[in-house]
Amino acid sequence: MAAFSAELMYAIRTLRRYPAFLRTAAVVTLKDIGRHRKHSNRISFAVMSTRASISVILVVLTLVPGITQAPTAPRMVAFTFDDLPGGGGLLSLQQMTAKLLKTLTAEQVPATGFVNEANLFTNGEIEARALLLDAWLDAGFDLGNHTYSHRGADSVAFETYKADLIKGEVVTRRLLEARGRRLRYFRHPSLRTGPTAEYKTALDALLAERGYRVAPVTIDHNDFMFAEVYARARAASDGETMERVVRAYVPYLESVVVHFESLSRQFLGYELKQTFILHANQLNADHVGDVIRMLRNRGYAFITLDAALEDPAYQLPDMHVPRGLSWLHRWMLAKGLPMQPEPSEPMFIRELFTTARR
Ligand SMILES: [Zn+2]
Repeated sequence: MAAFSAELMYAIRTLRRYPAFLRTAAVVTLKDIGRHRKHSNRISFAVMSTRASISVILVVLTLVPGITQAPTAPRMVAFTFDDLPGGGGLLSLQQMTAKLLKTLTAEQVPATGFVNEANLFTNGEIEARALLLDAWLDAGFDLGNHTYSHRGADSVAFETYKADLIKGEVVTRRLLEARGRRLRYFRHPSLRTGPTAEYKTALDALLAERGYRVAPVTIDHNDFMFAEVYARARAASDGETMERVVRAYVPYLESVVVHFESLSRQFLGYELKQTFILHANQLNADHVGDVIRMLRNRGYAFITLDAALEDPAYQLPDMHVPRGLSWLHRWMLAKGLPMQPEPSEPMFIRELFTTARR
């Protein structure tokens, strides 16, 4: 019997290291063993076969890339898109918006879009451009405020920022209220929450007073660099560069996702319901389907921002930081933990982006 217990403890200890679905299968096997307790020969055989199964599982886990990353619970993520309705001419905006929304709808991925209303008041196209926002709402998605002109809290005085925030809610609020809905979310431009603790406190109070909830981001990255290089290559009909950008884009995003999964496990002891920032642009209109597939392969289910923010982690105090950082970094800094560097984009993206900006 002592041998049986030792074998059983070995099996249980080993199983603890594996994902939930494998543990469930093995626990069923162990319960079966329990039922045959009085037949000691059968027990030894069953334990040995369990041990053999664990070895097989171990081999499979080692051989299949990505599976060793499998979580103990289903992973969840909420998509958010900033800088709506996007930049550029009306026709390209209409096509970009239609393509982006078509993929999100077909893939049944909920999303929240964050609007810079300055992008509506271009070339006297307010009505046509407001229809782009209507398209987001008609597709069943939510909209939030991202300030009128996307000025970062670190670059303007508080009173200027406040005026820009209030100016940025007029059309979006009207569109939501016309559908019996309410403007509820605010996303800070460039994730800058204030250059000083006083600025951040005043901004938090203003947001609360106006009925906003801050839309945090846990999976933060530099998709805007890829997008700009892609847009310029597209305008120049440079298919080769477009291809290069696309090949690097999803692997880069996956490296960032892996980083924040790991930070979440280290800091919280579990993987929180992640909030993922993306931007309304041509790169994502063309390739958000690839991003969705990458996340599905990692075991993610797609949820609304409301559902993601039910995770208790979002109640944690966030450190005042002058930079635009993931909320995971902010919570960790607030606890006195050091900043852990994120994976960087490939050098050629950075170089092409810097050249384009010159
Ligand atoms: Zn933005």
